[in-house]
Amino acid sequence: MELETSNGMEKIVSLCKRRGFVYPGSEIYGGLAGIYDFGPRGVELLNNLKKAWWQANVYDKENHYGLDAGMFKNPRAWEASGHTSGFSDPMAECKKCNTRIRVDKALEAIGVTADEKMSEDEINALFDAHRAQIACAKCGAHDFSRAKKFNLLVKSNLGDFTSEGTEPVYLPGEACQGIYLDYKNIVDTMQPKIPFGVAQIGKAFRNEISPRNFLFRCREFEQADTQLFIKPHENKEAYEALKKDRWNWFLSIGIKEENLRLKQHENLVFYAKDAWDVEYKFPWGFDELEGIHDRSDYDLTQHMKFSGVDLNYTDPENGEKYIPWILETSMGMGRLFLAVIADAYHEDDLGGEVRVVLKLHPKLAPVKAMVSPLLRNKPELVARAREVYQALKKEIPQIAWDDNGNIGKRYRRQDEIGTPYCITIDFDTLGETAELLDTVTVRDRDSGEQTRMKIAELASFIKSKI
Ligand code: ATP
Repeated sequence: MELETSNGMEKIVSLCKRRGFVYPGSEIYGGLAGIYDFGPRGVELLNNLKKAWWQANVYDKENHYGLDAGMFKNPRAWEASGHTSGFSDPMAECKKCNTRIRVDKALEAIGVTADEKMSEDEINALFDAHRAQIACAKCGAHDFSRAKKFNLLVKSNLGDFTSEGTEPVYLPGEACQGIYLDYKNIVDTMQPKIPFGVAQIGKAFRNEISPRNFLFRCREFEQADTQLFIKPHENKEAYEALKKDRWNWFLSIGIKEENLRLKQHENLVFYAKDAWDVEYKFPWGFDELEGIHDRSDYDLTQHMKFSGVDLNYTDPENGEKYIPWILETSMGMGRLFLAVIADAYHEDDLGGEVRVVLKLHPKLAPVKAMVSPLLRNKPELVARAREVYQALKKEIPQIAWDDNGNIGKRYRRQDEIGTPYCITIDFDTLGETAELLDTVTVRDRDSGEQTRMKIAELASFIKSKI
């Protein structure tokens, strides 16, 4: 059985906590809305996802470069990008219980599209026309305040030692700006030939009005972005290829095709030539996982105008000068993490008992194999099992030791973590049955089947699967 939609999220949140994947941020102080911590198993899965993304977007491509830009930027950068003036969501407050809602999302839920370009008055006209259909999620009332546009940038007082209200330095509202600001440095130092790509995984912060759906809408999150710099007007074919490339990547990490779809934006911002979202079927329905945007020359033109620095690219062959156009892919790592867990979540009915198993692709699993002695109170079994564990760990870092409870309990636990293989050292390993000396049982997570394998073959077997 796969994840039901009704209480699917509760099951995921509970499993993530129980098995050390994701904890609510600052939980001992009552938490902080929209902030989560990745626990020991979560950080391994997250790193495996980042590695798979980096492999596909830097190493497997020609002319693609990695970057890790500083988070803080000169405040002028956020003016140039349009974030200080335009990066806002319309917010209204329930007059009965003070719960805040995002008006555009509430309208979207009843099938009404609010355009990003709308003024506050235009949004309110649309809101007024549909107020009767919008109920407060907390108290059910239909009595909301007027919608107000609320800027999402998070301010800091970096470098302000006077507290006299000098211009705030913002935390990044989106990670990709770092790539635009370093575009000239990359061109000057790497001499890339167009088309070239720059990939970065970086943190972003947004004062989201109502953080919700666990890792889906947070106030602090990570984005994995690729910006592809292309010749002006050579966008059509490259854009189609990019969409296909990203689609295939989601399949390559094991996400089921039927849970993915591509959706075109109905309303485009003025500079965009085209925009599509890769959507995943989350427990509450299809929603955005990644944006793929055809951004023309907007970003570099804006930064050239505001900085006064020439950001033209000079073609090394014919000396032609132009501002490259940009095709962008931007994916929330937390949203990907949630999609991967939701997609892998399975419940089997074992004669009345429910077995929860995360059928993660072995290359993503936070633990590749668990090693344990059949019985924890037999020193000779424990000693041999520890030798096997230590030898394997030298070759494959993500190996776990587990001797808690009986073997059945250990299997259940590892199933929930998504560990593809459980290795058990028993008396046959020690030579009780002569021909089985130095062999172990390897249990397969998905089929539950156990096979006998030589200890010497374990590492290459696991490596072949990951
Ligand atoms: P939404 O419409 O859901 O608010 P967006 O269109 O504003 O998202 P972008 O600005 O295009 O999102 O950001 C690119 C990606 O970053 C999104 O596809 C999403 O995966 C991720 N992302 C955006 N906002 C959040 C958030 N608050 N929490 C987690 N991930 C986010």
